[in-house]
Amino acid sequence: MIRVGMGYDVHQLVAGRELWMGGIKLEHELGLLGHSDADVLIHAICDAILGAANMRDIGYHFPDTAAETDGIDSKIILKKTIELIATKGYHLVNIDATICAERPKMNPHIPAMQECMAQVIGCDVDAISIKATTTEKLGFTGRQEGISAYAVALISK
Ligand SMILES: [Zn+2]
Repeated sequence: MIRVGMGYDVHQLVAGRELWMGGIKLEHELGLLGHSDADVLIHAICDAILGAANMRDIGYHFPDTAAETDGIDSKIILKKTIELIATKGYHLVNIDATICAERPKMNPHIPAMQECMAQVIGCDVDAISIKATTTEKLGFTGRQEGISAYAVALISK
């Protein structure tokens, strides 16, 4: 059986935070605000994977009020998400994701993100597609107030 899921996430850009995207730390004067490392791309991907398995969302499994998730590396959340769907017999087939950000430039870092997430998941790099777009300076992403990410995931058992 194959199943599809989708995910969406947003985090606010603020001064004094590191910018983590797809498991990679990017050099930028602003970072994403959140209880975890606020890796918006990994969060959207985890929600897509959990949604495909009909297993709620990352807020349900990794509450932002819990001390054990304070400052957590989102790669740990991704690994645990793969373990969660495995309890229902599912494995990941592929991911397709889009980052919406005005700055910094994401494209030069995409191969490193793919490599990093494939290693965490234990899948082929080719199974992880990441795209990046600006929103033409429109809306909160265009004003560089935040970064959003969309993802779809296919799982199988
Ligand atoms: Zn998030």
